[in-house]
Amino acid sequence: MQEIISNRFVAIKDHVNGAPKDSDFEIKKEKIICVCPTMTVIVKNLYVSVDPYQINRMKSRSASQAAISFAAAISPGQAIDTYGVGRVVASGRPDLEKDDLVVGLLTWGEYTVVEEGRLLNKLDPMGLPLPYHVGPLGFSGLTAYGGFFEVCKPKKGESVFVSAASGSVGSLVGQYAKLFGCYVVGCAGSKKKVDLLKEKLGFDDAFNYKDEKDLKSALRRYFPNGIDIYFDNVGGEMLEAAVANMNTFGRVAVCGVISEYTGGGKRAAPDMLDVVYKRISIQGFLAADFLKCYADFIATTVEHLRTGKMQALCDISSDVESISSAFTGLFSGDNIGKKIVQIADA
Ligand code: NAP
Repeated sequence: MQEIISNRFVAIKDHVNGAPKDSDFEIKKEKIICVCPTMTVIVKNLYVSVDPYQINRMKSRSASQAAISFAAAISPGQAIDTYGVGRVVASGRPDLEKDDLVVGLLTWGEYTVVEEGRLLNKLDPMGLPLPYHVGPLGFSGLTAYGGFFEVCKPKKGESVFVSAASGSVGSLVGQYAKLFGCYVVGCAGSKKKVDLLKEKLGFDDAFNYKDEKDLKSALRRYFPNGIDIYFDNVGGEMLEAAVANMNTFGRVAVCGVISEYTGGGKRAAPDMLDVVYKRISIQGFLAADFLKCYADFIATTVEHLRTGKMQALCDISSDVESISSAFTGLFSGDNIGKKIVQIADA
């Protein structure tokens, strides 16, 4: 007799065009027949990633949706794909068998049917906790590593500013920058986060941007000699303030602009005369641009994590029911480090 799996997954009820709310989401149920056609794999999801970029996929329209397949639009009612770690339930692929640990594109749900051509690789945890493979060793880590080393092109002793610095990407960028020999200041949205940056992650300094009336003068205070590198996770007024404080030949790596995703915020309008006369480079990038340095990224980061030179911040909630609040919380700063939802025990 064919085994039938009951699956529950999160979907949007309709397109989400402003700040997301719990009520924008629903939990849907489906039955999966546990038979794998050739090259298809059924995976029990263990840990799934919760990321800000998903909001741009949920909108009726966004410039990001046509750019790259992983940012494609999500339709109401559809399962939402995301990076994650799982265990194989049934496999039609010769390289994977039942009970193998895997990492790749899963879904915000209990099970994923991974079809041919979708990203799914066997996972060797290398003695590190499974959530690390969603966070610092997953796409957040690759984004931070590639964005900092390939886009910012740091030199030892340079001054680096990181926004959303206690978040998944920001916390890693700041630590790579410190280990490389830069002077690093981060900003975050609470005292608890600021203390963590200075006391646990080794940032040279940090501040709560919500306490600052004038971001330009705040940055002048923290960088009296100017900023060489700004790793931008938030856009908006913070980008304008950073550009105003950049040094000649400064580099701005535009990783993301979360303050602009939910519609209410102001769009960044940096002073372009600063850009011209200080010859500032402003470059956007995607994690997928750095697959060529993937092996270096993994080797370096595993070494830093094993030796304790680098801290992994994983903020883990449990169960499919918590996915929507985990996601909406990203836009109000509820998370510290990589937001992950544990769906099942390993
Ligand atoms: P995260 O930083 O772990 O979580 C989001 C954080 O952003 C929140 O905790 C909050 O921290 C901050 N935030 C939320 N709304 C804000 C606002 N209006 N103004 C300022 N800060 C705000 O998320 P992440 O996954 O590491 O992503 C960080 C950024 O990188 C996002 O913009 C994301 O889209 C981008 N990203 C880009 C790539 C790529 O390939 N280019 C890959 C991954 C992520 P506070 O408490 O500090 O406000």
